[in-house]
Amino acid sequence: MKINLANIKKAKKLLNKSECVAIPTETVYGLAGNAYSDKACKKIFKLKNRPKNNPLIVHYYNYRNLIKDCSFNNNFIELYKKFCPGPITFVLNLKKNSKISKFVTNKKNTLAVRFPKHPVARNLLKRINFPLAAPSANLSTKISAVCSADVKEDFGKKIKYVLEGGKSSIGIESTIIDLRGKPKILRLGGLENSNIQKLLKEKIKIYNNPSKISAPGQFKIHYSPGIPIRLNVEKKINDNEAYLLIKKKRINKPNYYFLSKKGNLKEAARNLYSTLRKIKKEGYKSIAVCKISNNGLGKTINDRLSRASKL
Ligand code: AMP
Ligand code: MG
Repeated sequence: MKINLANIKKAKKLLNKSECVAIPTETVYGLAGNAYSDKACKKIFKLKNRPKNNPLIVHYYNYRNLIKDCSFNNNFIELYKKFCPGPITFVLNLKKNSKISKFVTNKKNTLAVRFPKHPVARNLLKRINFPLAAPSANLSTKISAVCSADVKEDFGKKIKYVLEGGKSSIGIESTIIDLRGKPKILRLGGLENSNIQKLLKEKIKIYNNPSKISAPGQFKIHYSPGIPIRLNVEKKINDNEAYLLIKKKRINKPNYYFLSKKGNLKEAARNLYSTLRKIKKEGYKSIAVCKISNNGLGKTINDRLSRASKL
């Protein structure tokens, strides 16, 4: 992707003034603001209509910029070396003298941090002298945005600027791992758990459904297209219902939407949110989803669809 410097400079100028700007990342688009500015962080919550108790992920250029805000351990160093920049978010202890806005963390002493890989996001992060708080650039509980048009569809002129970065290559949010104490996964995401387990050489528990919510990616209703979704449907599709399939069938009807031609899970994850948006726009009143294997990224896709089905 070719970098447009004028665009990046425009985003930087607005961010320096504590304005919010939508930015591309390889997972989904983020609604970014200066993580050290109360004013910018308050705006993010307001624009998204996001509950105040749902903390924000803070995006850094590299670990050197993180040292003044968080303490970290060996597990962090191992994972960082192998997977960053990339689709993994770490929950760490926040340092007492950190300047991170209290609105980011909801006054908690932990911080979720990520190092995005998208070249436009990296170029921007390198040019500014503060990290970016950036939740997904969609209205709270709705489908995430994977291109600039999605962001504009949700926010219109309410957002001062959307930095163009093409379609997100992963298309699904980051995997969140809590590294305080024994590592545990708080949200399934774009990095497969098996890769993390292999590196840390231990079985890692998934805590994405606790009664006490510590990562509201765990909230039951989320990623919703606003119409009912039926899961694990193999037959009896209604005519006015869209049928979401993991791969192309021999017989394809106009209401059939496939996430991948060959059932490739990476491709399916990349197409998930854009296909849900498309189905909604085309006026269907409900969606039936075929059974999707619960392996690798299939687990993440099933997690999102299951939350999206809780209308
Ligand atoms: P979003 O950026 O909209 O995908 O949402 C960010 C996700 O990160 C939400 O699920 C948050 O609950 C989670 N998160 C942010 N900060 C923390 C934290 N300090 N501890 C646990 N989860 C967090
Ligand atoms: Mg989100």
